[in-house]
Amino acid sequence: MKFQPRASHFVNGVYVEDSAGAEIDVIYPATGDVIARLHSATPAVIDQALEAARAAQKAWARLSGTERGRVLRRAADIMRERNHDLSVIETHDTGKPIQETTVADATSGADALEYFGGLAGSLTGEHIPLAGGDFVYTIREALGVCVGIGAWNYPTQIACWKAAPALACGNSMVFKPSETTPLSALKVAEILMEAGAPKGLFNVVQGYGDAGAALVTDPRVAKVSLTGSVPTGKKVYAAAAADMKHVSMELGGKSPMVVFDDADLDNAVSGAILGNFYSSGQVCSNGTRVFVQRGIKEAFLERLAARVAMAKIGDPMDPEVSFGPMVSEAQMKTVQGYIDMGIADGARLICGGKKLEGAGYFLEPTIFADVTDGMTIAREEIFGPVMSVLDFDTEEEALSRANATEFGLAAGVFTSDLNRAHRMAAGFEAGTCYINTYNLAPVEAPFGGAKMSGIGRENSKSAINHYSETKTVYVSMNGVEAPY
Ligand code: NDP
Repeated sequence: MKFQPRASHFVNGVYVEDSAGAEIDVIYPATGDVIARLHSATPAVIDQALEAARAAQKAWARLSGTERGRVLRRAADIMRERNHDLSVIETHDTGKPIQETTVADATSGADALEYFGGLAGSLTGEHIPLAGGDFVYTIREALGVCVGIGAWNYPTQIACWKAAPALACGNSMVFKPSETTPLSALKVAEILMEAGAPKGLFNVVQGYGDAGAALVTDPRVAKVSLTGSVPTGKKVYAAAAADMKHVSMELGGKSPMVVFDDADLDNAVSGAILGNFYSSGQVCSNGTRVFVQRGIKEAFLERLAARVAMAKIGDPMDPEVSFGPMVSEAQMKTVQGYIDMGIADGARLICGGKKLEGAGYFLEPTIFADVTDGMTIAREEIFGPVMSVLDFDTEEEALSRANATEFGLAAGVFTSDLNRAHRMAAGFEAGTCYINTYNLAPVEAPFGGAKMSGIGRENSKSAINHYSETKTVYVSMNGVEAPY
């Protein structure tokens, strides 16, 4: 099999196999072919990985930040040099078009490694002067062994977004990819080793939810960072709480995108396309509830449908193809179920809605209009290429309906009224807001959710606070006065 890795897991600097673990078939979503066969980690492999991470961490934390950063920056360079090969793997693992994976996966991972590599040397505590010459200084300390658990939509990016700040702060990591997309994290591990990371610093174990659960509950683990759905997030957060472990939760969303009648219509249509159909809609921050002011509704729908008709659906390895399959048959069936519900609830199907004939898990980009707030397709995260267009009249109404959700990952507004744009951004209950654009996530900007969409922030300087803790050292320059 062309994409068969040397072994299933990467532990203590080498590939490790334990065929006693349950089989994991890796399927190319465009054809349904099995492209690799791996094994889920047995308790013995999980133990080895945690032990290797524990052993590597202390010496790594004792290096200077500059030395740690150098390894990460070298890894970023290697990742960029291999972008093509990594993108081919990512396309086969996820089904995302090569047009996308070439610009949004390994490149985004490399950005994180470069950014946090650059930051590592300037991570410091502070000096706090007190009365009488006493003072406090703080030390920013690593947490220890961190566990990363990934979703299947951006496997390389997720591994790097977690590893880069964790390692920059002096932690080690055991990473468990989604069993649907297990291949690319192994490549990240290889690259980090080649860049000079000590063995055991970054380990990859494969497996289903039970492997993740075993990692989360292990006493050697100081922190858990999950990218996944809200139900999984609740379970992992609760399990981590038993030992008071640190957590970051990057969870799902049902984000609003509000288009006012003074918006640049073409930009708004482009935003709606990027925010619903990139990666076949399998993006957590997608703006899947598109509120359009009533006056421009039909013009918006007309232009949107015309543009979506230009999507090129097909073989993801064809550089001209801009829309690929769903990641798995199971995910395709889930999304088909939501499309059926939209039709049954009386939403107006503007385009799409069907599976493509033949092999592969291809669903057409689907747009529903006349969607109302109570419909299931407007309330639940679908995680597929299904856009709901809703009408509104006033700014106040749009904001209150946009916020009427348990999620709070992202929100967007399209308008040419500057004051209104900032009023909306201030009013949105969301971790990331967009004004006249959608779904950009540069490493320099914090990324994460409000409400049920998560805890903590990835990327930017904010991530440092989630992978380190502060030790306070009080220094007395005076005698100690005791009452007796
Ligand atoms: P899941 O929540 O099903 O799984 C996420 C990861 O958690 C997988 O690796 C899964 O393993 C693992 N897992 C499952 N159960 C447990 C458990 N009890 N303990 C520990 N780990 C467990 O999400 P999906 O993989 O289906 O990904 C889609 C979801 O991810 C969507 O809701 C999406 O919104 C969200 N997401 C959020 C992002 C963000 O940054 N906010 C970015 C990307 C996606 P296994 O797969 O083997 O069951």
